[in-house]
Amino acid sequence: MSTAPEPEHLPDRPHWRCRVCDQPWPCPESQASLLDEYRAYPSLLKIYLSAQMYEALDDFTAYGGVPPLNLYERFLSWARNRSASGDPSVTHHSPESRSPPCPSSDSPSSGPRSL
Ligand SMILES: [Zn+2]
Repeated sequence: MSTAPEPEHLPDRPHWRCRVCDQPWPCPESQASLLDEYRAYPSLLKIYLSAQMYEALDDFTAYGGVPPLNLYERFLSWARNRSASGDPSVTHHSPESRSPPCPSSDSPSSGPRSL
């Protein structure tokens, strides 16, 4: 294949910085791709992010350091805020279109049968 795959924004453990843009993971790029990937399953995204958060906590404490206090905000709050906000496309108001309340039953009759 000639098309080079886009580099995935994955965490570089144990420092949990993005391998591509060197921001604290999840970086904005990985957040966008995760939101897209789990668009239909927002609860699964939170489960996944919770697991990642505990992995990060393990890595941070394994080095004898103090874990960052904002781990929850960093790993989970952005997903909760995104999924809680309403869909703006729902507010679209369609113009009032009048439709007949009930179709009148004027089927073409076969005509009076004259005997
Ligand atoms: Zn990144």
